[in-house]
Amino acid sequence: MEFADRVTRVEPSATLAISALASELVAEGADVVDLSVGEPDFPTPENVIEAGQAAMDAGHTGYTTSKGIPELRAAIAEKLRADGLDHDADDVIVTPGAKQALYEVVQTLVDDGDEVVLLDPAWVSYEAMVKLAGGALVRVDLSPYEFRLEPALGDLENVISEETELLIVNSPSNPTGAVYSDAALEGVRDLAVEHDVTVIADEIYDEITYGTEPTSLGTFDGMGDRTVTVNGFSKAYSMTGWRLGYFAGPAELVSQAGKLHSHSVSCATNFVQHAGVEALGNTDDAVAEMVEAFRERRDLLVDLFADEGVDVPVPDGAFYMMLPVEGEARRASGSASGGQPRVSDAKWCEGALEDAHVATVPGSAFGAPGYARLSYAASEERLREGVERLADEGYL
Ligand code: PMP
Ligand code: GLU
Repeated sequence: MEFADRVTRVEPSATLAISALASELVAEGADVVDLSVGEPDFPTPENVIEAGQAAMDAGHTGYTTSKGIPELRAAIAEKLRADGLDHDADDVIVTPGAKQALYEVVQTLVDDGDEVVLLDPAWVSYEAMVKLAGGALVRVDLSPYEFRLEPALGDLENVISEETELLIVNSPSNPTGAVYSDAALEGVRDLAVEHDVTVIADEIYDEITYGTEPTSLGTFDGMGDRTVTVNGFSKAYSMTGWRLGYFAGPAELVSQAGKLHSHSVSCATNFVQHAGVEALGNTDDAVAEMVEAFRERRDLLVDLFADEGVDVPVPDGAFYMMLPVEGEARRASGSASGGQPRVSDAKWCEGALEDAHVATVPGSAFGAPGYARLSYAASEERLREGVERLADEGYL
């Protein structure tokens, strides 16, 4: 069988692959501390589950209009308005997960050979989505700047040109947890406006920050008509398996992307959309509780690694942390054993899973070699256990 070039250009999702490996080990009876996949370990809030069940009972089991039920699109437009973005419900498309939203937007904007700029470390699927669309990747590395964007604006300026079709900005960031400052986002705005670049703002972690209020990129002057804002329900409301997300953008873009949406997924699941209305409207306390738990776990992990002599860049949002495991990254962390040529981050992660039964994702998968990404969406007890095992097996 001959396969299309577009699929042979990409690898399976590294995050999902490692999590599958961890699950296999668990099925074989191993006790794995799984810090790989980015999935909140809390149940979906009870009232959201009840809203989904009630919607099913009420017969909301057929197709919906392709763009999504009006109540949900109106609730999303209201959330975006509260963030300072001016979209009406018609400019919103509801998707089965933010991943599908990103996929559709990239397919809508990127032609063969079009340049797309990523800020590394970047979430694994951006690269694959761009490659599937035939785009050419241009990467700006934030690793030398402790993952901050502001000091990297000069590097971004060097690569953005009239050739740039699209820039993807993800704040708070997966995998670093960095929340980009307003000054950094203004710098992005200046470059995007100057070179007439469209920007995807992936704001799926916007509710999960620790003392820093992220600003939505589309709110900056000049960004309204060139920003596509992507968000979803997986992280803030712990709804990964429900598969619900959305994008909002200029009417023309939404109309073009809507064709792709209608010919691929038709619509997001009907009763799930009804649960989404409840999630947006009535979960403030549940979200605040989850965010507080994530903050405590972040602090705990930072302290536990410091006790082992490893300084990790302290994340301001999401539930990820980049652990320096090799070479330059390790040296910069001030680790006592830093600077020794160790194995690559992929080998480190492989070894940590086999020897310590701790699952993490290699930084290379995100364009950040020398690091391992840890998701701290796990209980404090498991985090302590994980760090202890890594230390005992000589991985710190
Ligand atoms: N964007 C980022 C940065 C993510 O980490 C994820 C996590 N899977 C997604 C988008 C997609 O999330 P989902 O499809 O579950 O809404
Ligand atoms: N976004 C999460 C992660 O990075 C979930 C898995 C995925 O979709 O990549 O781990």
